[in-house]
Amino acid sequence: MLMLHLGCFAVFYTGVSTPAIIVLVVMYVGRGLGITGGYHRLLAHRSFKTSRVMQFLFALAGCMAMEGGPLWWVSHHRSHHRDTETDKDIHSPKTQGFWKSHMGWMMTNEAFMESGANTRDLYRFAELKFLQRYYVWIVLVQIVVLYALGAGLDALNPAWGTSGAQLVIWGFFICTVLLWHATFMVNSVCHTWGSREYETDDSSTNNFFVGLVAFGEGWHNNHHQFPLSARHGLRWWQIDLTWLLLRAMNSVGLVSDLRLPKELRSP
Ligand SMILES: [Zn+2]
Ligand SMILES: [Zn+2]
Repeated sequence: MLMLHLGCFAVFYTGVSTPAIIVLVVMYVGRGLGITGGYHRLLAHRSFKTSRVMQFLFALAGCMAMEGGPLWWVSHHRSHHRDTETDKDIHSPKTQGFWKSHMGWMMTNEAFMESGANTRDLYRFAELKFLQRYYVWIVLVQIVVLYALGAGLDALNPAWGTSGAQLVIWGFFICTVLLWHATFMVNSVCHTWGSREYETDDSSTNNFFVGLVAFGEGWHNNHHQFPLSARHGLRWWQIDLTWLLLRAMNSVGLVSDLRLPKELRSP
């Protein structure tokens, strides 16, 4: 994690270009939706249905975000919902402190001792076990692809001012660090600062900023109230990019059975 953060400073050596910014945005959105739509709403909560191929693609995009393999991630997340803010909640700012809830918990031995007992339903998918096992290789392959893309674009048109190293820095290092903090804030910030619409048994909050940068996951008080809902931003102004994607995918038949809180269901 430290290396990834320090690596971002190489941007002063590689510089920036239009292709680098485009790659950053595409990678941030694609990998981000892999975490929010794939790891979280599909795998952890089963809040909508989809084909095995789509499930694999969602999980693959999640793997690329370098937040652990899907089975490990889901196991921790389900534990968070079961043991919210108790001593068993490994990333609660209430019991562990803000820093540990944000990212320090992943530097503890406990973080890698999940038994997987709460993800048995996902073990029947060989492709998810494959992603869990070869997760590190997926992370590494994207670095090679980004490098090859940058070198290829540079050879095609040097005026674009890009390079292999530049696309690795923007598309992998900077993108990963930004997305990490955006999603880690759901654990830290969204149990500390924000508004509470529902009197849940925990101190989860709705936070507009996190809602924006983490594609709807910042409406975390709503989520603790309605954990099975595919939609987290429940009011029109609660921007939830993941929900917009799922609704669009639903309209073309790529996903179905989007679960919603009772009060939002049409009669
Ligand atoms: Zn929470
Ligand atoms: Zn959740």
